[in-house]
Amino acid sequence: MDRTLRLPLNPTTEQAESLLETMRQFTQSFNLVCAEGWRLKEGNAFTLHRLTYRDCKALCPKLVSDLHVQARQKAAEAVKSAISLDKKGRRVGCPASTLCPPRFNLHTFTLDWQAGTVNLSTVAGRQKVACVVPVYALDLVGNRAATADLLYRKGRFTLHVVLKLDDVEFTDNGTALGIDLGVCRPAVTSDNRFHGQKSWRQVEHRRHHRRRTLQAKGTKSAKRRLRLLAGRSQRFRRDCDHVLSKRILTGIAPGTVVVIENLTNIRTRVKASRGEAKRRLHSWSFAQLASFLAYKAEALGCRVEGVDPRHTSQRCHRCGSISRNNRRRQSLFLCRSCGHRDNADLNAAKNIRDRYLVGWSKAPPDRLLSESLSSQPSESSACVSWPKNHTDDASGSGVLHCRT
Ligand SMILES: [Zn+2]
Repeated sequence: MDRTLRLPLNPTTEQAESLLETMRQFTQSFNLVCAEGWRLKEGNAFTLHRLTYRDCKALCPKLVSDLHVQARQKAAEAVKSAISLDKKGRRVGCPASTLCPPRFNLHTFTLDWQAGTVNLSTVAGRQKVACVVPVYALDLVGNRAATADLLYRKGRFTLHVVLKLDDVEFTDNGTALGIDLGVCRPAVTSDNRFHGQKSWRQVEHRRHHRRRTLQAKGTKSAKRRLRLLAGRSQRFRRDCDHVLSKRILTGIAPGTVVVIENLTNIRTRVKASRGEAKRRLHSWSFAQLASFLAYKAEALGCRVEGVDPRHTSQRCHRCGSISRNNRRRQSLFLCRSCGHRDNADLNAAKNIRDRYLVGWSKAPPDRLLSESLSSQPSESSACVSWPKNHTDDASGSGVLHCRT
């Protein structure tokens, strides 16, 4: 299992200069391979190596061969993806970078956890650069490092180190946890938990309007301000997604399958008619949350699975009837056939879980009766194991409201 650790570096002034020079030369090598690959429409790494290695080495003789090889590898990938986009009719040009992050590997870098240093191959020879392990990543200390990318942003160097962690084995315990990425609250899980703050959306909303006014202005200072805002929104969402994924996975047993909507087509699938809903849908980073969930679940011995999300918000979790009118308001679900009443996002989360566990068509008809008889309001149940030992999970009508 791989984990990426962002390691801030504290180089001396000379070291900073040699790191930057290494980045520049790496970029030159990268751009040379890209230009050649794009000219010949060739994305094969071996062919490109044969065609360009000598020129690259002549252009930047001080850059060690291994970094040339990595630059070529990155360039080959860039060219390959540009070619495939080109074939699809998209407008693409030759890939080029102003400052391409050099990729170090076992031959060009070592990480000394104890001394708090990284040893990097630069154009000025090997450099031992001081680094700081962030507090949140202290439990990763001691793991084996495989590769590292060097990034430079706003005067600071960061090393993105890929660590090789021991695999946590997944043994299915028969339970699943459905997650609905709600509109009302960022996420709702089938164990009756509401995650995240409604205020997150409000923050997004404010920023969106601020962006709009600035875009309309179009002056130089407005553009500067916009760039600043873009970074800030990105960091804010990232933070929210980390908080959300952590809270969702808190307290779940190893071997649980975390079920999310299969989000590949979310942008085309969900009809958000009004402009506001549309913007919200498009702006929230579903993919990022899914990726955070995946790696965090893996570390806990759990797994993330996607299911077809069609009708999950229109289907009654109790009787299985599907109707557009079931969802009365954004937050209220009221079944037309059986009168089942629930928070709409929670109902959807349970549907998502059930779709993974049993599929809808297989739901036995007697389930309806047994549930309606035993529909006592209860706050029980983490994840429901079904059909093995099916427990009724808090389907008491009217007890669950979105606390927003
Ligand atoms: Zn119903």
